[in-house]
Order: sequence, then structure tokens, then C-alpha cells
Amino acid sequence: MDARNHEADLDAVIVGAGFAGMYMLHRLRGLGFTARVLEAGSGVGGTWYWNRYPGARCDVESVQYSYQFSSDLQQEWDWTERYAAQPELLRYADHVADRFDLKRDIDFNTRVKSAAFDEAAGRWVIETANGKRLSARFCIMATGCLSSPNLPDFKGLESFKGDRYHTGYWPKEGVDFTGKRVAVIGTGSSAVQSIPIMAAQAAHLTVFQRTANYAVPAHNKALEADYIARVKAEYPTMRARARTTMTGIDFDYSDRAALETSAEDRTREYERRWNHGGLWFLGAFKDLMVSDEANATCADFVRAKIHSRVRDPEIARLLSPTNTIGCKRLCVDIGYYETFNRGNVTLIDVSERPIDAITPEGVRAHGREHKVDAIVFATGFDAMTGALNKIDIRGRGGLALREKWSAGPRAYLGVAMAGFPNLYTITGPGSPSVLTNMLPTIEQHVEWIADSMTYMRDRQLGRIEPVAAAEEEWVGHVGEAASRTLRYTCSSWYLGVNIPGKPRVFMPYIGGFPKYIAKCNDVAAGGYEGFALA
Ligand code: NAP
Repeated sequence: MDARNHEADLDAVIVGAGFAGMYMLHRLRGLGFTARVLEAGSGVGGTWYWNRYPGARCDVESVQYSYQFSSDLQQEWDWTERYAAQPELLRYADHVADRFDLKRDIDFNTRVKSAAFDEAAGRWVIETANGKRLSARFCIMATGCLSSPNLPDFKGLESFKGDRYHTGYWPKEGVDFTGKRVAVIGTGSSAVQSIPIMAAQAAHLTVFQRTANYAVPAHNKALEADYIARVKAEYPTMRARARTTMTGIDFDYSDRAALETSAEDRTREYERRWNHGGLWFLGAFKDLMVSDEANATCADFVRAKIHSRVRDPEIARLLSPTNTIGCKRLCVDIGYYETFNRGNVTLIDVSERPIDAITPEGVRAHGREHKVDAIVFATGFDAMTGALNKIDIRGRGGLALREKWSAGPRAYLGVAMAGFPNLYTITGPGSPSVLTNMLPTIEQHVEWIADSMTYMRDRQLGRIEPVAAAEEEWVGHVGEAASRTLRYTCSSWYLGVNIPGKPRVFMPYIGGFPKYIAKCNDVAAGGYEGFALA
């Protein structure tokens, strides 16, 4: 460890070297704070370090899914595809780490086991699985929203003799499925991206689907030099526009209502957006996420598209979701539905009867064994709270965060918790995070946290902690905002429903990025209203 960062003078420990932890380190350094990052992986990149499954790529366009804090960085980096694939995103993360000389303050292969607030010293004591112990005035959790893989407790799981993979924990060296019989369990975004590629490789692919998912085409393409030049010239205005949208993405969100538009016009608009590709599709009408009737017009359009893409009408029917479109995260696909036209792909619907068991030789469903050489679990994550709850986090009086959150996460602005002084979470539950473009959301959080630390330093204050009443009010507001939308109505990971026993609480803030930024700015301008400072 660098002598400058000797724990006695360490201002902050940052947990995680994904996009959040990296920028947090850079920002704090620039402000003259000392910080050390602890990272479980052997490199930077977070999500893009772990999710190396075939086909992994972002579903927000690369030119927007990137940092904006450094204009030089923004100008010098050239994205090659509309939606960057995981290797390119990891190269970008690595480039940023090298460009800003971040790695000298990151301990890799270091998993944080516990973090406890020492009240007498006013410092956090952080312990790692490999026996390190650090203390710092601030502890900043940059642990990611979708970083704790969920492996359901299937009967017989351990008996399987073949190879087992989870999309969120993919081997660095990659996997060659050539000539193999492969099972995939799950049909969320990770499966939708990986299934077409695995199907092209494997001898046979058997997909176990519990809930059919809506996917819109990506229309991914290589980016032309003149397009990149245009974006670079317009970056400041594009980024400013993005901050005014609900998702922090520079999209053209319509202010027309589907129910006030004729059926022909509606279809024309859906078709236009379908041909353009990507998540922009759901911005077609303003009432899609608040009115069942409006939503049905959109869902019908996508179901018709699925039927036009899949030759066998029965398979098309099984692949057609019946739930609210956009309730679960919309998937962006490259040839997903067409993959089910291949002769080497079988779809097994387990919506009405769960998978019976994993057997030594495969997967048994509906009483029939499907023999395979490998199983890919595309079964998602214990989202938003999972990574934090894996760490034994103790605040004042030894209060455990797991205990505080036993009935669902409670945090003020998704950034700090009553009972846990000087602890920050970047894109924590109660912040817009996963409902927005993560990069600008991360930057907003990092800058707000750094500003609050500077504010304290300027006034020689040692502690910042949310007041219980302010936290209570924010948690209420987050819940109330969610309950007004259709997103509240399905069994999504936003609600924690994918994890047995997890409280059903809508975790991200759905009020939109601009409203959230305004609230955070007001809180800061009011001398950190809702926080106790001492
Ligand atoms: P996910 O959306 O949670 O999907 C998990 C899948 O596994 C679902 O189909 C789920 O079925 C199924 N599953 C879980 N337990 C099961 C069980 N016991 N038996 C049968 N099926 C089971 O996870 P994900 O695909 O990894 O995606 C998670 C999130 O990560 C996405 O929503 C997105 O936000 C993000 N992501 C983004 C990208 C991107 O940017 N392009 C790519 C991948 C992921 P049910 O639906 O019935 O629960």
C-alpha cells in the first residue's frame, strides 16, 4: 500500500472498482482526499468485468453509456458499435483506469467482508476476506446494483456432472460450446443476448422459460467516423438534454398519449421506433406505463412482431409475453426470436410447472429428463440490496444494515442511511439508478457525495447521517411514486420478487432523473437538509 494512503490518514475506503468506484476515486483525489478502493475482481469494470457471457453488451447506446466528467476523455475515445459489447466496455474501463492512473490506489482480488463504524474514533473499519483491515473516515459502497448473482436452489443442483455457468459470473477465458448439448435456464436480458450466440455454437440448446420476455430489436451497427465526429461536436448539448429526461438518456420521448392517438397513427409510431431499435421504443407514448389500456396497444404490437419472426405458431405463442410491457426491464435483442426457428433449439415452458430438478445428467422438467453437457444459469441477480447485504455492515450501536433492511431497503435519497454515519451508497436503493442510464446517474451521485465531503471538510465537521424522519419521508415518496405506475404490478427484480423471502418493495426511484437531481441539489443548497451534521 502506498505510504500516502496509510490508513491513519485515509479519508475514504471505496468498495468496488466498477464505473462508480473508479470515478469516486478520481473525484476524491482531485479534491485532495485520500482514498483506497477495494475490489473483489482482478481488474476494473464491475458489471463488465463479471458479465462476460457471449453476446453481453450494453442496451444504452455507447455514445451515451460513457463518462462525461472529462471532456478530453469523451473526445479521445471512439466507440466502434452502436451498442458496445462487453470486451469493448472493459477496454474502456481499463483505459479510464490507466488514463487517470487509478490502479495504484486499488487493491484487486480483495473482497470486503465487513464494515463497522467505530463510534469513539468516528471511523469505519473495513475487513477483507484476505485478512486486510483498513480504517477511514468515510466508507463509500460502489458495489453495483446487479452484482450479486442469483443461483436458485434447484433440487439436485449439486449432483450435475457437467459444466455449470452463471451469466453474471462468466469464466474469463470464455467457454466453447461447440458440439455440446447446452441448457439455458432463464429468459431475461442476459439470456436474450446470449441465446442466439450459444445456439449458433452448440450441438443443441434447450431453453427453459418461466416467463416470456418482450424484446425489441437493437439494430446494432458499426459506427461511422462522421457520426462519431458529429456526436463529439454535439456532446455538451446532448448531455445537457439527457439530464432533462426521465432516464438520463437523450431520447425523443413523445408527449402524445396512445389512447388519444388513432390506431393507424399508433401503429405507424410503433413501427418507426421498432425500425430505429432499442429502448427508445417505449418512449412512443406518455401513457404506456400508467394505463393498462395504452400498454396493451404496445404489447399487442410486439406480440404480432414475435409471431412474424417465429415460424412455428405454437412456439411464437409461448414466446409471447402476456404481462405488461416495460414492467420487467425491456430486452434489446439481436436475432433472439429467430433463434427459435433453428432446428437445434428447443423451448421448454416451465411457467405452470417449475423445473422438477437438476439431475446428474441434465434438467428434468414435466417429468422428462433433458440430457445436457452444460447448464447456463441466466437467472439474474439479487438486485440493489444483494451486494450490500453480503457485507456485514454495522452502524451506530452495532446496528446491522441487514437488520435495518429486513422489511425492505430504507435510505435517504438512495445515498445514505440513518444509523450509519459517513456511509454512502452510490446508486443505492431509493435512487433512480437502474431506471436510468447508469453512467450519468453514477456521476451525479459521485459528485454529490464528494461535494458533501468537501462541505464538511470546509466546516471542520466530522459526521454526516440522515435524520430518521427525512429518510422515512423519502422512502414513502419512493414507494408512492412506484405505486402510481404499472411497474408495480409484475414479479420483477425491481420489486425483489425474484429472490425467495425478499420483501416485496419497489427499490429504485421512479420519479425520474431531473426530479431526483433537483431534490439532491436542494438538499445540498439547504446545508444538507435532512442530514444531521456534527
Ligand atoms: P433477469 O432479468 O432477472 O432474468 C432472470 C431469468 O431467470 C428470468 O427469465 C427468470 O424467470 C428466470 N429464473 C429465475 N429463477 C428461475 C427458476 N427458479 N426457474 C426458472 N427460471 C428462473 O436477469 P438477467 O437476464 O441477468 O438481467 C437482469 C438485469 O440486468 C436486466 O433486467 C438488466 O437491467 C440488466 N442487464 C442488462 C443488459 C444490457 O444492458 N444489455 C444485459 C443483461 C442484463 P422469471 O422472469 O419468471 O422470474
